[in-house]
Amino acid sequence: MSTKIKKMIDWAKDLFPICRSITGEGARTTLKYFEKINPELKRLKFKSGTKVFDWKIPKEWNIRNAYIEHESGKKFANFKNNNLHVVGYSKPINVRITKKELIKKIHSIKNQPDAIPYVTSYYNEDWGFCMSENEKKKLPDGKYKVFIDSKFKKGFLDISHALIKGKSKKEIFFSTYICHPSMANDNISSVAVQAFLIKYLKENFKKTKYSYRFVFLPETIGSISYISKRIKTLKKNVIFGFTLSCLGDDKNYSIINSPHGNYLSDYALESALINLKKVKKYSFLERGSDERQYCSPRVNLPITGFAKSKYHTFKQYHTSLDNLNFISPKGLFESFNVLKNIINASENSDIFPISNFVCEPNLGKRSLLSTISKRNDEKNKTLKNFIAYCDGNRSIFEISIILNKNLQEIVGVCEKLFLKKLIRYKKI
Ligand code: ZN
Repeated sequence: MSTKIKKMIDWAKDLFPICRSITGEGARTTLKYFEKINPELKRLKFKSGTKVFDWKIPKEWNIRNAYIEHESGKKFANFKNNNLHVVGYSKPINVRITKKELIKKIHSIKNQPDAIPYVTSYYNEDWGFCMSENEKKKLPDGKYKVFIDSKFKKGFLDISHALIKGKSKKEIFFSTYICHPSMANDNISSVAVQAFLIKYLKENFKKTKYSYRFVFLPETIGSISYISKRIKTLKKNVIFGFTLSCLGDDKNYSIINSPHGNYLSDYALESALINLKKVKKYSFLERGSDERQYCSPRVNLPITGFAKSKYHTFKQYHTSLDNLNFISPKGLFESFNVLKNIINASENSDIFPISNFVCEPNLGKRSLLSTISKRNDEKNKTLKNFIAYCDGNRSIFEISIILNKNLQEIVGVCEKLFLKKLIRYKKI
């Protein structure tokens, strides 16, 4: 693994400690960090109170400190030790209460007694603390002071986006969320992978065939805001895209299909995962991230969710156990590689191949068929089968799935056939 690739884990480590939310300084610091690495990223700001479809941009939330203090002076659930200790968007508070009253405001997970849960209350003004069940049990009897030094103000919701223009206006789209505080797989991992994809594109292609859009935003309200600003362009230009989440572990590969599972994005991801171990396919009914917005009825973009271990499926999910030990350079690299292969397939070959001949072309006279070994027989078969599906309507992704050959192998076949002038590509 090159030192370049290791950058992703370094970025994740840098950003892990920051307290992020859907608005506020934490989210902004995270965006700024990547805008420095990728100067093509530009900022979009939405004022608090702005209407976006059926939603309203909330007030900006910032927090400096929070803790629970027993009458003995002993502190618990200290925000400075772990920002998950405070319910996200908690209102400021500084009162003395009984232990009985306090317990009602503490979130913990009974069957995961060592984990601090991640809890938010964005749209319902409230406050609360999160502790491990074990810590909660240890709270001594007596009176407590609860202190949350947070602030709401009229401010902004921030989004960073980049459009890397290619020869075609048709876009390949990537979106990930930057609103989660100190959790590694969900989702600083995907933020790092997406930022690395921009770098990869810039460093490896002088001018791309397709245009590429990358969006970093707070989940749900961010994607709704972004869609409200860009719906026409997105609907016109996006040919396929992905929402990225939980891309840092090295356990599974997960596809969260679009509503009907038949978009270019579904096929692209599936074809890039052929022959990889532990691929899990989830229907749209198990969606959870911004594909909810991008694929909603009147938006209807060709977007598929990509995760390593999908949110809700791993025990560390939305807890303090989703820490930097749970993600690895290998996990991040594997995710990057899948997306890189899809980009390379679109750029180095193209998406819709058409045979240049009526009936089968004569492969023998072009010395495209080798006849010696069995291994090569399989190659011959793939070549012939590939051409058999080059009707200009099936994408290389679909053909790859029909042939059950990984996308990279199919791209190799494509390049060979294109060089020998046996296929061309349909413009889209
Ligand atoms: Zn999450």
